[in-house]
Amino acid sequence: MKDYLFKYAKELFIALAITRISTYKYSSDTGILISIFLLSYSYIFLNALFSVPCGRFRWEYTRKSWVLMAVNWYIAYWMTTWVLDNVVTVENIYKPAQAIYYLIVFDIAYYPMHYLFHTRLFWFIHKVHHQAQVNQGVDAFYMHPIELILTVLVFYIGTVMWIPTSPLIIYDMVAIGIKNTMWAHMGADAEHMQSPNHWLHHKYFNINYGNIFMDFIFDTFKQY
Ligand SMILES: [Zn+2]
Ligand SMILES: [Zn+2]
Repeated sequence: MKDYLFKYAKELFIALAITRISTYKYSSDTGILISIFLLSYSYIFLNALFSVPCGRFRWEYTRKSWVLMAVNWYIAYWMTTWVLDNVVTVENIYKPAQAIYYLIVFDIAYYPMHYLFHTRLFWFIHKVHHQAQVNQGVDAFYMHPIELILTVLVFYIGTVMWIPTSPLIIYDMVAIGIKNTMWAHMGADAEHMQSPNHWLHHKYFNINYGNIFMDFIFDTFKQY
């Protein structure tokens, strides 16, 4: 647990630094694009590096992953820059408590959405993500574009619509979002997953829907 938290904090720090440096050096729109690429590729590279000895990183399988990833990257980029240009109003006032609050809000909003995705009505959208092999970072973006749009929308509707937000918080959310989701899908096998709980969700479907605490409230948490 201590090792995991230390590794998590280290990865998070690197992710935040990449996003901050690229958005500081370039215009915020270009910076977001660069950080999406840099962050995603660094996790894909790490995943390939550490999973190849276990023979689990399947290049031949990834063709569909790359296409879906490119489409979903573009949608996430477009939605984020739209929010930065049209909704975000406060310049350079950064409140760390607000960033934490946004992560909590996202967990509250994402849990019921993910739960609904698993009902008969919406399964046609979410089944694409459950076709992923879940030991490759690219699988984080292996989802129906409608799922990506709804996920990003739920976050922005729950947060920046109601509270004046600094663009710095948006940069951080992009970094944290990419880091968390790529971690959740990468590892050599069940035992060596960076985030085994999400691996369990892909295996058993009806557990571990959320990100932080919602699974504890609704008693759907299961640890590997
Ligand atoms: Zn997943
Ligand atoms: Zn699911």
